Amino acid sequence: MSHISGVRKLSHSSSLSSTTVPRFGINTDHEDELAKELEDLDKWSFNIFRVAEFSNNRPLSCIMYAIFQERELLKTFRIPVDTFITFVMTLEDHYHGNNAYHNSLHAADVTQSMHVLLSTPAFDAVFTDLEILAALFAAAIHDVDHPGVSNQFLINTNSELALMYNDESVLENHHLAVGFKLLHLENCDMFQNLTKRQRQSLRKVVIDMVLATDMSKHMTLLADLKTMVETKKVTSSGVLLLDHYTERIQVLRNMVHCADLSNPTKPLPLYRQWTERIMEEFFRQGDKERERGMEISAMCDKHTASVEKSQVGFIDYIVHPLWETWADLVHPDAQELLDTLEENREWYLNTMPQSPSPPPDRHLQHDRFQFELTLEEMEYSNHNHIQLRNSSGRTGSSSQRKQEEKEDSLAKRADPSPVSKKKEHLVFIQQ
Ligand SMILES: [Zn+2]
Repeated sequence: MSHISGVRKLSHSSSLSSTTVPRFGINTDHEDELAKELEDLDKWSFNIFRVAEFSNNRPLSCIMYAIFQERELLKTFRIPVDTFITFVMTLEDHYHGNNAYHNSLHAADVTQSMHVLLSTPAFDAVFTDLEILAALFAAAIHDVDHPGVSNQFLINTNSELALMYNDESVLENHHLAVGFKLLHLENCDMFQNLTKRQRQSLRKVVIDMVLATDMSKHMTLLADLKTMVETKKVTSSGVLLLDHYTERIQVLRNMVHCADLSNPTKPLPLYRQWTERIMEEFFRQGDKERERGMEISAMCDKHTASVEKSQVGFIDYIVHPLWETWADLVHPDAQELLDTLEENREWYLNTMPQSPSPPPDRHLQHDRFQFELTLEEMEYSNHNHIQLRNSSGRTGSSSQRKQEEKEDSLAKRADPSPVSKKKEHLVFIQQ
């Protein structure tokens, strides 16, 4: 099986030389506007939508070039600029422009978010240059050639990809295979001047990180992150002590997962655009499922899904527990974005259309079920269960929460291994 589907030979910029590289790596008539946007490159409020607009719809190429320039990675790793640009353009072309969400704009957003997270003061001088290179590369390739449908859809429809990867992290394995295969195309090997050892280490980090973007790994990642927070060591200047590779890779895994789930932590006008896009992609999948007479996936039925409810549930059960734990790890660096997340959650809650008086208990139960990360064939460990229910501290009464917290700490003591399960099947969001 030497053939990887989705890889196309494209020739552009092969005649590009270092003297003809445009100021921002891409051709545009809006250099000044683009320059203005890129001033915010290091900020969480960065507007990638406007970068797409001013870069001839090349947000990924543009952002990669800007970040690699700022971090001097081309110099450090002797990456020829023409090779770099040929690679990032080819990579961008392998994202599906017709996906509403999983296109190169999302990849660019995750890459820029990683760039900001890598610079968080708590990680000052923690990661090696090679780890930073790998982390940014992983973010850039993490959804390449995404078909706009979920792993479960691919499995249920007996797709070629599911067959190829035996139903295990189907998309994530494919993104990796395509991302690395693209390096073999003409003038695309941006790692050509790395040593063999560096290439091996980079590949290991990238594989580990992209596989961590599979949402079915969320609970395990979060449990490990919580353990890390409980045992964290910091220097006198507040920088985390992460001496071992296993600790650093664990942080990087969670970092890319956080970046992938960062939409609800961004300023509301940005977040709302992402929501529209993901719902459009979900509804298209729902339409496909309806046409085929399949059961329609959660959140994918345009006739019944509530966008606002989906977002509040998504925040309560997945995004907030994750970011809250991340914020504990890098305290106090992520406080502002945690505040934004909570404000955004309030906004969606207040925008929710009032449904005609559902019985309160059953209503809650129903919502819960929608987000319940539908756990199949799984021994849902006590610890994990409580984490999920207790996720945002917003469900249940405060006395209930206290009781749950108590149970939680008891469960932790009784079962120090964070999660024990056979298979976690998450129908919710696939980002
Ligand atoms: Zn993604």
